[in-house]
Order: sequence, then structure tokens, then C-alpha cells
Amino acid sequence: MQKPVFNSLDPDDWVAFRAQSHRMLEDMLDYVENIRQRPVWQPIPDEIRHHFQEPLPHSATSLAAAHQTFMHEVLPYAVGNVHPGFMGWVHGAGTPVGMVAEMLAAGLNANLGGRNQMPVEVERQIVRWMRELFGFPDSASGVFVTGTSMANLMSVLVARTVALGSTVRQEGLGDRGAQLVAYTSTAAHGCIAQAMDLSGLGTAALRRIPTNARHQIDIEALELAIAADRQAGLRPFFIAGTAGTVDVGAVDDLTALAEVAQRESLWFHIDGAYGALGMLAPDIAPLLAGIERADSIAFDFHKWGQVPYDAGFLLVREASQHMDAFAAPVAYLRREARGLAGGSPWPCDFGPDLSRGFRALKTWFTIKVYGTEKLGQVISETCRLARYLEQQVQAHAELELLAPVALNIVCFRYRCADESVDVDSVNRELVADLHESGIAVPSTTTVDGKLAIRAAIVNHRTGVQDIDALLSAVLTIGAARCHSGAQ
Ligand SMILES: *Cc1c(COP(=O)(O)O)cnc(C)c1O
Repeated sequence: MQKPVFNSLDPDDWVAFRAQSHRMLEDMLDYVENIRQRPVWQPIPDEIRHHFQEPLPHSATSLAAAHQTFMHEVLPYAVGNVHPGFMGWVHGAGTPVGMVAEMLAAGLNANLGGRNQMPVEVERQIVRWMRELFGFPDSASGVFVTGTSMANLMSVLVARTVALGSTVRQEGLGDRGAQLVAYTSTAAHGCIAQAMDLSGLGTAALRRIPTNARHQIDIEALELAIAADRQAGLRPFFIAGTAGTVDVGAVDDLTALAEVAQRESLWFHIDGAYGALGMLAPDIAPLLAGIERADSIAFDFHKWGQVPYDAGFLLVREASQHMDAFAAPVAYLRREARGLAGGSPWPCDFGPDLSRGFRALKTWFTIKVYGTEKLGQVISETCRLARYLEQQVQAHAELELLAPVALNIVCFRYRCADESVDVDSVNRELVADLHESGIAVPSTTTVDGKLAIRAAIVNHRTGVQDIDALLSAVLTIGAARCHSGAQ
């Protein structure tokens, strides 16, 4: 008898494959456990960048060899957000639990578009938990997406469909769509404007309302803008408040926004990309009062929630309105009362993605294994460290605080005694020096026209010693930079 032709992608030698898999798991566990021994970030040497480039491989390479390439050429040159010295932008740190959960999800290779399968039930469990966390009704729906940028775009599409009726999906925006106007603050993330662009409404239909001294949307200016637009025959339809602005971590007055939205019959959306999960922390949740009145909330489990990338989420108060914007009745996705095609509605009815990964599993494992109390403590601790850094900045005459610290983001700068020195350029260079030092990685932003060193403390591994290391490096490099800048 002839041997069957065996041409699958599974290993010929499972024993050897298991041994190699275990080495790969061990290497990643070593990486996370010993992360402090590495620089936060290091520049990619030219020879590594070039060596990695090669033509499309036609023949096979052993898994062990590919793994070695990863270990030497990829792993050491990542962004560094696993490292406790990472305070740049707003990046989550991930956890070992999330990491191994990703492996389980990859092994199952579940497609979460829909169908009658338990993985979809895992995603529905997260939806129920998020309803509970945010005080949303049982009629609320939710769906995993890549990130808050996508969730914000989807919220604009839902609000547009509510404003114009579902015929907008066949007829397009038309004259009525051209009258729609949306509102957010000047401190809102750039993806709100992008959402207006991508949805066809146009960024010119977004009013960017000024902020007050606490970097919150100015409610009076908002009301005036709405009145002026109505006067001009336009149709206000959407307000995006922010819970945790990306530059300084400010939280809009969400209750006041809810009042305005209700009075003016506008869709009330909240960009809570990183801040919304502050609901997990009893000392932070009161700052988010009013979030329970939103029509929709966009947020990321991959930031303060510490779930590995990516895990964005959109929660919508009324599932029927959410589905009206996305569900598509096509024959090949027909639902049945029984069998694998049952279990409607499906996640694909709540967004533009049909094939979708199992983001829910790493999120479920993270919440289940750590529990909300512990995850909330991590969030509180990042805010406590931010207040510590704020105090340290205020205690050093060479340092200047540039924005009030509402949550976990501290914006400050080094000031030079010599007034002829360009302080913006000193601080810009100082941050690049810090990155290259591998000690700490803050980022920069502009606050009231001044270039700021921005420390966003999101990482559950960050401790007082990491804040002290940042401070002492800033003081040393700042002094040297001011000195050379004055020459
Ligand atoms: C990070 C962030 C976003 C973008 O979220 P992604 O997950 O990167 O798409 C939007 N808004 C705010 C306030 C953010 O902090």
C-alpha cells in the first residue's frame, strides 16, 4: 500500500516541534520576567535593519532558525512598552496572562464574525461586563475592534444613521447629511476629526470647542456654537466628550455634556480610549461621573486595561441603533434557528469587520484572572505615581509643571537659567537623549504653545524607582543641554 501524500503544514515531527515551542515560550517568559535588565528602547543598528530584508523565501527555513532571527533582530528593538521605564504616548504594558491567552486564541483559530460557537459567548460576556461597569442597560451592545480610532469612527456612523435614518445607507449623505455638525474640544484626539473625514461628513463639519484652564471642553462655548449653527440652518447631531485627553489626561465634565446633549437631542459619545477603564478604580470612577449617560463609549482594553494589543471596544446604549448602522442582510450570511448558522445577532452585525480574531479571550482571561479590584488598583497606582512626579517637579526649581495632573499624565519641562536658550529645543533634545539612554521613555506634546516632556504612566510595572530614574536623568541631561545651548 502506498503512503498517503502528506502535504499539510503540520510538523512531521511533533516531538521536536513541541520542544521548539517550549523554547519559544520560555524565551518570551524570560523576556517579560527580566525586562528591567534591558534598555527601555534602543536604536536599530543599520546592519540589523538591512540584514533582516530579504527576497520572498521560496524554500523552507527551520522554525528554530526563524526564532533565532526573531530573538536577535526583532525582540531587542521593539517600542519598549513592556518596560517599566516606558512613559511615552499612552501604551499598555501587556501581561503574562494576556500573552498566554493569545496563544490559546491562536491555537483555536476562532473566527469571531459570528455563528453558533462558544467564543462568541466569551465576547458577549465582555459586553455584559461592560454594561455592568458603565451602568448601561441590558439593551446595550458592544463589539471588539482594533482600537478607539475605529470605535470612534463607528460611533459617528451610528449617530449619522440615527440622525438621517437607515436610508442613508442606500442613498448616501445627500443634502440633509451636508447639514450635520459635530462638536468636540480642541484637546480631542485627532481620530475624531479623522472619523468625520472617513464618514464623508467632512472635518469642516466638526466644531473644535476651546477648553478651560483644566483642559476640559468649555460648556458655555459649546452651547454658543450649537446655537450659532442652528441659527445658520445647520443640524447639530453629535458631541464627542473625552474621558482622559491624550495630551494631559483631562476629563471633560461628562454630566454637563450629557445635559447639553439631552437638551439639544444630540448623540452623546465619549472617547474614553484610556480613561474610561478608570471606572475600575474606586478613587478614579467619581471623576468619570456622567459616563453612564452616554449613547456610546469607545475605549481600549490595551491601554489602562493592560490587555495585549489590540483590543479596542465600542459600547452602544441601544443595540438596535448600533445594528441599524452595520447589519447587512446577505444570503451567504443567512441566520438559521438551529445549527452552526444560529445564534443571531452576530458580532459582524455591529461593525464593518466580518472575519475577526478572538480579542475577547485575552480580555476575558485578564479580567477573570486578575479581577477588577486588582486591575483598579493598578490604575490608581499609576495616578498616585503621577501625583508623586507632579510633586517632584514642583519641588525642583529647574522644572516647570505645564498642565494640572488630573489622572496619570504629567506634562513638564526643564527650564534653563539662561534666557537666551531656546527652551523648546532643549526639551526636545532632552527627550531624544532620554530615549537613547534607554533609562526612561517619555514623549513630548505642546501645552499652551510650550514643548512639554510628557510622562504618561500606564504601565503596571512602573514604580517610584522608575519615576526617580526619569527625574534624575532629566535633571542631569537638562543641565548639560542648557549649558551647551547657551554656548
Ligand atoms: C489612544 C487614544 C485614541 C486612539 O486609540 P487607538 O486604540 O490607538 O486607536 C483615541 N483617543 C484617545 C483619547 C486616546 O488616548
